Amino acid sequence: MSNKRILLVGAGLSGAVIARKLAEAGHSAVVLDERAHIAGNCFTERDSDTGVMVHVYGPHIFHTDDEPVWDYVNRFQTFMPYVNRVKTTSGGRVFLLPINLHTINQFFGKTLRPDEAREFIASLADTTIGEPKTFEEQALKFVGRDLYEAFLKGYTVKQWGCEPSQLPASILKRLPVRFNYDDNYFFHRFQGMPENGYTEMVERILNHERIDVRLGTRFTRPDAASFDHVFYSGPLDGYFDFELGRLGYRTLDFDRFSYNGDYQGCAVMNYGDLDIPYTRITEHKHFSPWETHEKSICYREYSRACGPSDIPYYPIRMADEKALLERYVELARTQQNVTFVGRLGTYRYLDMDVTIREALDTGDAYINALQGKGALGAFFVNP
Ligand SMILES: Cc1cc2nc3c(=O)[nH]c(=O)nc-3n(C[C@H](O)[C@H](O)[C@H](O)COP(=O)(O)OP(=O)(O)OC[C@H]3O[C@@H](n4cnc5c(N)ncnc54)[C@H](O)[C@@H]3O)c2cc1C
Repeated sequence: MSNKRILLVGAGLSGAVIARKLAEAGHSAVVLDERAHIAGNCFTERDSDTGVMVHVYGPHIFHTDDEPVWDYVNRFQTFMPYVNRVKTTSGGRVFLLPINLHTINQFFGKTLRPDEAREFIASLADTTIGEPKTFEEQALKFVGRDLYEAFLKGYTVKQWGCEPSQLPASILKRLPVRFNYDDNYFFHRFQGMPENGYTEMVERILNHERIDVRLGTRFTRPDAASFDHVFYSGPLDGYFDFELGRLGYRTLDFDRFSYNGDYQGCAVMNYGDLDIPYTRITEHKHFSPWETHEKSICYREYSRACGPSDIPYYPIRMADEKALLERYVELARTQQNVTFVGRLGTYRYLDMDVTIREALDTGDAYINALQGKGALGAFFVNP
């Protein structure tokens, strides 16, 4: 197998992990990013005034059940214990999320035990709904109107910019309630925070003699000509200069402010009420509980439709977007020697562990294809 010259577009987790995989297999990799920094949306940097590690594009908590992926990230960074515990302010009161026995007892002023709470919630559920078609119907069928309006409705309207009655039921797949006092937001076996931030972790992944990183460099299609293969983790529609139209995204605005002391006493406080325009406030020093900082950096987070010059955050994937996506996927399949990867290249929301798993497997698939074992087309994972 001769060594190949590979171009990775994007220095986020997708680009970095594939580059490392291929560099370790003897290929040479050029990693381009149009931003002035590596690590994509996981980028973290220390605020020079307060010393707080800031999650610049919004908070990132690493959690996974995938042990090899957990071992992989620990190879490049020490992960410190961190458990995500989210609070929410609703109707002028503070509750724990996800909705659990404490939330239920506090909200209804009761002292129910698990079985009693299960029965009580079942009695609130809207039994007139047969097969729920929308998010709203699903929620009403699961938890009834009071909990839906306090904890699910307003947040969803702000997050997605539409009524929950317009969103598919599939968004709320499981009963969003726990009948015990467990307020760990995630179910995964492994959870933690990189001791010195995600940027240092990605820097170490990229630190290989056969990897050349070029920042502040925007990829355009002619760049591909001098490489054997391109792995593209930019926006799928952007690769084609939006010739079929733009795939819909939500973007986020962060109103950053500092505070002398502890602003809210926790990392994440959601705001479910519609009269508050932001969805949540994150206080970044609480993402590093092993550090001590007098001052604090917080983000008020607002969600809105993504315009042409905004950063695309969450793919919308409603019926219209899916139809357009199919057309872009067809177009992508006509390209030679390009594989679309990552959250933007495949237009899916991907947690970091899934991104890394897919990147490792995509790198393996390319190496196998070079050895005549299978082929790697435009997508390793179908969007
Ligand atoms: C607000 C928010 C919070 C999140 N929180 C979590 C969390 O708590 N836990 C978790 O596991 N995951 C979380 N995620 C998901 C996580 O951000 C993704 O898994 C990860 O960023 C995906 O990496 P990527 O490399 O595919 O994409 P990105 O990080 O977006 O990297 C793509 C890179 O490509 C570059 N690029 C694009 N186009 C071009 C071009 N034409 N030329 C050159 N460069 C280009 C971009 O500048 C970018 O740096 C969150 C995501 C968001 C949006």
